[in-house]
Amino acid sequence: MENLSGHHFIAVFGGAVAGSEAAHQLAKRGFRVVVFDQNILPYGKIEDGLPKWHEKLRDKEEAKINEKIDDPNVRFVPGVQLGRDVDFEDVAKNWGFTAVLLATGAWRDRPLPVAGIDDYVKKGLYYQNPYVYWFNHYHEPDYQGPSHEIKDGAAVIGGGLASLDVVKILMIETVQKALEQKGIKTNMFKLERGIDKVLETHNFTLGDLGLKGCTLFYRRRAIDMPLSSAPVTSPEQLVKAQAVRQKILDNFLRKYLFKFEPCWSPVEKVIEDERLTGLIFQKNEIIDGKVVPIPDTLKTFKAPLFISSIGSIPEMIKGIPANGQVFRVNRDESCQLEGYDNVFALGNAVTGRGNIVESQKHSKAVSLEVMDEHLHWQEADYQDWLRGTESGIRDQVNVIVDRIERKKFMPKEVIEDILQKTEALQRKVGYDGNYPAWVEKNLPTRLEDMLD
Ligand SMILES: Cc1cc2nc3c(=O)[nH]c(=O)nc-3n(C[C@H](O)[C@H](O)[C@H](O)COP(=O)(O)OP(=O)(O)OC[C@H]3O[C@@H](n4cnc5c(N)ncnc54)[C@H](O)[C@@H]3O)c2cc1C
Repeated sequence: MENLSGHHFIAVFGGAVAGSEAAHQLAKRGFRVVVFDQNILPYGKIEDGLPKWHEKLRDKEEAKINEKIDDPNVRFVPGVQLGRDVDFEDVAKNWGFTAVLLATGAWRDRPLPVAGIDDYVKKGLYYQNPYVYWFNHYHEPDYQGPSHEIKDGAAVIGGGLASLDVVKILMIETVQKALEQKGIKTNMFKLERGIDKVLETHNFTLGDLGLKGCTLFYRRRAIDMPLSSAPVTSPEQLVKAQAVRQKILDNFLRKYLFKFEPCWSPVEKVIEDERLTGLIFQKNEIIDGKVVPIPDTLKTFKAPLFISSIGSIPEMIKGIPANGQVFRVNRDESCQLEGYDNVFALGNAVTGRGNIVESQKHSKAVSLEVMDEHLHWQEADYQDWLRGTESGIRDQVNVIVDRIERKKFMPKEVIEDILQKTEALQRKVGYDGNYPAWVEKNLPTRLEDMLD
């Protein structure tokens, strides 16, 4: 029996949680998929965002990605960036793919809303995404990326879970160094379980180590922090959620010994000797859920380092239509890109939420929608096809096959062309198609393996 879904070739850009899930959903129904990723390994924020103390979660999620990509119907093409190595319009219009899925995530930090502040990036100001990337990788013996500063007394601007991770990084790094100066060897994993406990063991306070700790500035209150994904649809749920948020923050404050400054928004910068040395904040009040600045409440906070962690947005890609900071997609289940009937976006690139499960769920929903509506492949067809395959009922399968829109099947030459083009791209980075061997060769050195 011929599996006609094999006459479709679908491109997925980004091979991480969302991209690999889409590839898996398509591949298991017989569609052929090319997964392109700008990096050598397709792990995205699992490798470069999720801080490295989540080593078990990271390994589990990367194993899941591996399983989905290492599929006979999936062709992995590493080291190819859409917009740099291949042109979006060319791929979408000329390569002949039946559909193009964008699972490129959210890699750009939302700009800190202070005029001219980006002139001071790496001169007192850092953004969360490159900062966490550096933290996750700088221990590797062959790390050649940019290095970032760590200083006591830094300020973090944020309020979500990722900003708490940045605070943890600063506290862990500064305390580890200060302990080392006192001849005490510890490690990141021990400190992550609670800086308070480690200091207690050695009978030290933060002050004894000569440290002040960093400060987290948030524009709302502790009870407003987006720290839990529990739904809030009633006043009772809101009260509960607010109590949970406060408890989560209190727990973090107790374990990691930083300071919290609620209801402050940065409005102006302080520059000295070509470096950002301070921010001027304005106090807010929260009225009916809205942030309302209070006049005449400015205060200056000086710090050796500022890290902005106020959210991530998709990197814009040349040729992809955007609405401000997001791709211009239809807000229905398919997230179809405006102006293209064969391009869809999924995962962090559209959800705006930094969450593994949400990225995966969104990706599955969009992939199924794309198959149903665009490739005219219904779940019922799949079940029938499976049954047909099992029992060999040729007639039944023929009926199902007729239900799939034949005019969209790709001619053999187009498939051949895609195979050739993608193979050339694979060759460029030295990838021979053996995915497990590629992972083994390129997996970064893990900190846990370097410790005693
Ligand atoms: C500090 C931090 C802590 C986090 N903690 C948690 C947590 O505890 N629990 C949790 O559930 N989630 C957490 N997350 C969020 C979670 O990691 C992400 O939501 C999820 O991994 C996103 O998956 P994705 O596939 O949608 O996007 P990504 O992982 O961003 O994948 C996008 C992929 O596309 C590739 N790509 C990008 N642009 C291009 C291009 N132009 N061409 C080709 N390829 C491209 C990238 O290389 C990448 O592989 C955290 C995130 C951060 C930053």
